[in-house]
Amino acid sequence: MIPVTIQSMQLIDLKGIGKKTAEKLELLGITHVNDLLFHLPLRYQDKTRVSKIINLSFGQTALVEGEIIRSYLNNARKPMLICEISDGTQTLALKFFNHFYSQRVKMQQGKNIRAFGELRYGKDMPEMLHPEYWHFEDENLPLEKSLTAIYPKSEGINQATIQKAMNQVIKLLANNEIAVTEFLPDELLEKLDFPNLYEALIYIHKPPPQADTEQLMAGVHITQQRLIMEEILAHLLAMKKLKQQAQKNLAPQLPVCQTIIQQFLKKLPFRLTDAQRKVCKEIYADIEKNHPMQRLVQGDVGSGKTVVAAMSILAAKENSFQSAIMAPTEILAEQHYKTMKNWFTDDDLVFLSGAIKGNPRKEVLAKISSGTAVIIGTHALFQDDIEFLNLGLVIIDEQHRFGVHQRLALKNKGQENSLQPHMLIMTATPIPRTLAQTAYANLDISVIDELPPGRQEISTLVISNDKMSQIAERIRANCRQGAQAYWVCTLIEESEVLRAKAANDTFEELQKQFPDLRIGLVHGRLKADEKNRVMSQFKQHQLDLLVATTVIEVGVDVPNASLMVIENAERLGLSQLHQLRGRVGRGNKKSHCVLMYQSPLGDVARQRLDIMRSTNDGFVIAREDLKIRGAGELLGSKQKGSVRFRLADIDRDKHLFQTAQNIAGELIQNHPETCQNIIDRWITANEEVSNV
Ligand code: ADP
Ligand code: MG
Repeated sequence: MIPVTIQSMQLIDLKGIGKKTAEKLELLGITHVNDLLFHLPLRYQDKTRVSKIINLSFGQTALVEGEIIRSYLNNARKPMLICEISDGTQTLALKFFNHFYSQRVKMQQGKNIRAFGELRYGKDMPEMLHPEYWHFEDENLPLEKSLTAIYPKSEGINQATIQKAMNQVIKLLANNEIAVTEFLPDELLEKLDFPNLYEALIYIHKPPPQADTEQLMAGVHITQQRLIMEEILAHLLAMKKLKQQAQKNLAPQLPVCQTIIQQFLKKLPFRLTDAQRKVCKEIYADIEKNHPMQRLVQGDVGSGKTVVAAMSILAAKENSFQSAIMAPTEILAEQHYKTMKNWFTDDDLVFLSGAIKGNPRKEVLAKISSGTAVIIGTHALFQDDIEFLNLGLVIIDEQHRFGVHQRLALKNKGQENSLQPHMLIMTATPIPRTLAQTAYANLDISVIDELPPGRQEISTLVISNDKMSQIAERIRANCRQGAQAYWVCTLIEESEVLRAKAANDTFEELQKQFPDLRIGLVHGRLKADEKNRVMSQFKQHQLDLLVATTVIEVGVDVPNASLMVIENAERLGLSQLHQLRGRVGRGNKKSHCVLMYQSPLGDVARQRLDIMRSTNDGFVIAREDLKIRGAGELLGSKQKGSVRFRLADIDRDKHLFQTAQNIAGELIQNHPETCQNIIDRWITANEEVSNV
């Protein structure tokens, strides 16, 4: 018989699955029989062997059988059914809080019963609460031939339903009545010593009695790794395909000559670091080509990404193309605008944010459409009515703060004249290499792996909230020496109003405590010009202490600030703390960061704050953060289009990410026909993949 391909079979063709259940399965992402096969077990039960009661320890889940010695209802207010059994080695009580008549009458003395459950301590004898059980006569009750898979389930579908459906599918598969197509080439499977898809699926759903359950539960069994590898490959191939597609577009060529570069470098108050030079070179090499650059620049906080952005803008400007630089917050956009003023003329620059409305906005739009060279702003830059004259370069700063759609919207701005702008994305989120290579496989990656010289390590202290006097002393000492300080309020409130209020309370409190200090306040509720006023006062050292919410998290650059106090630091993610802390230690002053916490501090929280104390290395912190929070959060899981793996685990499967990297290129080259198949199997059409 010729196998029908599994894709043509419907869920409702399976016994026990009606329309209702099919709908519920859909909630689990299962719409086809195919999906069911890839709905992998969470854990396994071993019902392939009967254990002797005496050999079991408490907490162990096992299958036992024996003869019923007595069965009775105890005299609790709500009587419990208790069935005591013996297998000749020991007695055991099966206990049921809920029971019904027919159940009770069947539990007769002298009958055989088999039970599956967790052995627990009991006063008189060990017990199992609500075990699964089966009656049987003298003849043998057959044992399961394989380990029993337990599946992730959803509201309204019980395990038995899923298992029943699964059993049918596996049987059809095993009998060759349906088939799954192997997409990985033979030579690859051989090279990696991987089982084929068919073997892997059968094994995972129906592991043989001798299978290594520990390996299976940890997801590291070779059969699981094989599937995980295919999933990672699917993501990589999808991203690489996007990259190829983007490479088909045309972009303006933006060559820049050495004289211009040298002139620009002369204006800088510092020498570029080798890392900055290297990255600039990579960018220049990209943008002189007639295909759009798609480059991600990773550089820890303070590594000097802004000047790299400026050097790219320089190239666009020299070729009479516009550049747009988009920052995630008003404060940061404003700061970029001021910084760029040092390097470009006023006529070359225009600023746009959501706060600019009415006539001023019209003027700004007119400048943009008539070709002003450098446009700096917030996400206000990608509103529909904004027309660029000839956008040649888009720079997105601190990209993790933007959603994919926002990034796309800005990119599409260039399309009218059929040339796509070059795209430069800058991020301080130090994503571990393995993850970056997959999540951003559509981008080329540059790393600024060096801080400007003279930077001092920030020393970090972890102090309980009630040691306020110590902290006050530090602030005084810091400001007396002519340096400035931040006080960060971190109330985790959904509402900006409450956050602002808390910051305001702290502000008033600190004013009372430090009457001799000039204190300012910024939070998300302030009007843009008010925010800007306070920020520039702080920048010009007209303020000593700045009380702020986490609005200052990204990018703010005031080198004279050398102390940061962060309230309730235990509530923030490590990467966020690292970003915040990066606001100090930007000049040549020895800097300090005080992480305050509300005691008592739990073990995990203590561990996390200790990581902050022990290292300033963003990559180390990111790795720890990744362990604690998972990849989704690091990349911004709420953003559509960020990678989400069904099976793969960034940490556990590190080695597979590396291997997949090597294989992807080979597959594209030698087996182009299979690539799309792999993508289609693992990435459903409604899962949008980031295209920047
Ligand atoms: P980030 O990478 O966090 O965006 P910035 O671009 O804001 O960092 O730079 C941080 C600070 O370092 C700024 O004050 C900037 O002027 C300064 N800076 C940048 N490059 C150098 C360098 N090569 N030498 C000295 N200081 C530098
Ligand atoms: Mg920056």
